[in-house]
Amino acid sequence: MTGLVVAMDGPSGSGKSSASRGVAKALGLRYLDTGAMYRAMTWWVLHHGIDPADAATVAARAAEPGISSGTDPDGPTIHVDGVDVAGPIREAVVTAAVSAVAAVPEVRTRLVALQRQIIGAGDIVVEGRDIGSVVAPDATLKVYLTASAEARARRRHAELSGTTPTGTTVEAQRAAMARRDEADSTRKTDPLSMAAGAVELDTTALTLDEVIAEVLRLVKERT
Ligand code: C5P
Repeated sequence: MTGLVVAMDGPSGSGKSSASRGVAKALGLRYLDTGAMYRAMTWWVLHHGIDPADAATVAARAAEPGISSGTDPDGPTIHVDGVDVAGPIREAVVTAAVSAVAAVPEVRTRLVALQRQIIGAGDIVVEGRDIGSVVAPDATLKVYLTASAEARARRRHAELSGTTPTGTTVEAQRAAMARRDEADSTRKTDPLSMAAGAVELDTTALTLDEVIAEVLRLVKERT
């Protein structure tokens, strides 16, 4: 199994995070959430009073924050300049600003380099938007997860219930997600797209265990 890299790409709500962690645990691999790294960069931008829409300033300062990711699938961690930001990066202000920050080429160059360093010799499941296409095009297996807009909105809403302001409906969730998908899919640098050689897996009608089982089957097929 040495050198194994599983790339898990897809839009939010496609079930990527839970499936990626489940696959990593089942195979005893490390796990990297690259979305958390873009969120950490965005948290730092906001924390420093920088306007996330000011691409020139974001680009000029993209090298400043020290971002470190822990890769244990049982407890992945994310720190910025030594501060644990696992909670704050999931807040709505970060979610609303992340697509703009992630569209800045200097941000992507820096984070892709960091991601490649962590991936190193492999034995890792990596989730994101451009893992199979840009970060690790030679991955052992590339999976592109999809789900209907309705299913994705429902999952995100359930995930966030308790943290979303009361009154946030599945419909509002679907609209916010559609805006983020649109921004992520149409940006100039490394847009969300299915990589060459990726296997598309529609999770709409599948349980988490079924998704994990299917990815494990695909890994087995390739190793
Ligand atoms: O996966 P998650 O929803 O946490 O990702 C947050 C945002 O980070 C995405 O909406 C996207 O803008 C950006 N992202 C990216 N490339 C990745 C992972 C995430 O641009 N590989």
